[in-house]
Amino acid sequence: MKYLIWLVVALAVVVWLKRAKKTIMPGGMGGAAGSAGSRQSKSQVPEVEHMVQCAHCNIHFPASEAVTDASGQVFCSVEHLRLSAP
Ligand SMILES: [Zn+2]
Repeated sequence: MKYLIWLVVALAVVVWLKRAKKTIMPGGMGGAAGSAGSRQSKSQVPEVEHMVQCAHCNIHFPASEAVTDASGQVFCSVEHLRLSAP
């Protein structure tokens, strides 16, 4: 019974290592987790994205995730756009 437990642990480690390798490997198709910013181009993903600042909470975030209102102010989310609206 002891060995069975260790076998399960060993299998879990092997599976975890395989997944870790996939996420670390550059240029691969990647998993479902790390494909957030690959909408524009598949081969040429910019390493550093332009960062903008939210007008409500002052947090810095990628421009591609920005929400802009009519006056040109940038927000990190629709919720903060609503909160800043008069
Ligand atoms: Zn914000």
